[in-house]
Amino acid sequence: AAISAADLEKIQVLGSGNGGTVYKVRHRKTSEIYALKIIHTDSDSDSKVRRQLHREMEILRRTDSPHVVRCHEIFQKPSGDFGILMEYMDSGTLENVLESEGTFSESKLADVARKVLNGLHYLHSRKIIHRDIKPANLLVNSKMEVKIADFGVSKILCRTLDACNSYVGTCAYMSPERFDPETYGGNYDGYAADIWSLGLTLMELYMGHFPLLPPGQRPDWATLMCSICFGEPPSLPEGVSDEFRSFVECCLQKESSKRWSVSKLLGHPFVCKDPKPEQS
Ligand code: ATP
Ligand code: MG
Repeated sequence: AAISAADLEKIQVLGSGNGGTVYKVRHRKTSEIYALKIIHTDSDSDSKVRRQLHREMEILRRTDSPHVVRCHEIFQKPSGDFGILMEYMDSGTLENVLESEGTFSESKLADVARKVLNGLHYLHSRKIIHRDIKPANLLVNSKMEVKIADFGVSKILCRTLDACNSYVGTCAYMSPERFDPETYGGNYDGYAADIWSLGLTLMELYMGHFPLLPPGQRPDWATLMCSICFGEPPSLPEGVSDEFRSFVECCLQKESSKRWSVSKLLGHPFVCKDPKPEQS
C-alpha cells in the first residue's frame, strides 16, 4: 500500500547537506522506520535545484538493486517541498563508521569494495554515473550491507556527454579528466570517474584521512586540483598487501582510459580472493 506523508512521524534529523535535510521517521501504523529526505523548492528556487531534484528522483524511481538505497515513495508538498522516502540505513555512512570505529582493515575494505562495485555495476550497466562516490554517500546497516546513496549530482547518460564535464560533485573526489578532459580524457565516457572516486574512498578508509592531503588539512580547491592533475596519483603506505595496492592503482590511473572498468575490477584478486575455477 502507498505510504502518505501524513502517516509519518519525524523522530530525528539524520543529516543535512546541499540537497536538503534527511530525517529518521516512523510510520504511525506499521511502526516501520524510514529515512525521509526533504528538499526545499519554491517558486523562486533556481533551475539548478529543480534539475538536481528531477535527476535524483528519476534515478531513484529507476533503480531496484540490493546495492543501491531503495526509494519507497516520492511526495510533493503543496509548499513545493519534495520528500523522498527511503529505506533507513541504521549504521549511517562509511564516514560515520570511520569516525566511530577507526580505520578499516584490508579484509573489511575488500568487502566494501566488492559491494560498492556491485552497486556501480548495476548503475553503469543502466547508463547511470553516480559522480559523487565518497564515504559520506555510502550507507551501511547492521546487516553489514553497503549501499550507494545520494544521487543529487548523478547523470543518466544519453547521447550527448557534454554535461559530464560541467562542475558538479564534491571536488575532492573528482578524477583528473573532470578537471582536464583534454589531457586525461582518452575516450572519456564518464564511468571511469566513479572508479577514481572509489579508489580514493578505499584509501581514505584505510588511512583515516583524505589521501590527497596531509592529515588534518582542510581541503582547498586550488591545492586539490593541482595535486589531482599535476601530481602522481596517491598510493597506499608500506605494509599493505600486493592485491590491495594493485587494486587501488587500477582505480587511480590518471588517464581515464587506462583505469579499470567495474566489470574488470570485479575480477581483481583483491575482491575475489578465491576465484572459482570456471572449467572442470
Ligand atoms: P551532502 O550534500 O552533504 O552530500 P545531501 O543533502 O546530498 O548531503 P544525502 O547525502 O542524501 O544528502 O544525506 C545527508 C545525510 O543524511 C547523510 O550523510 C546521512 O548521514 C544521512 N542519510 C541519508 N540517507 C539516509 C538513509 N537512507 N538512512 C540513514 N541515513 C541517511
Ligand atoms: Mg551526500
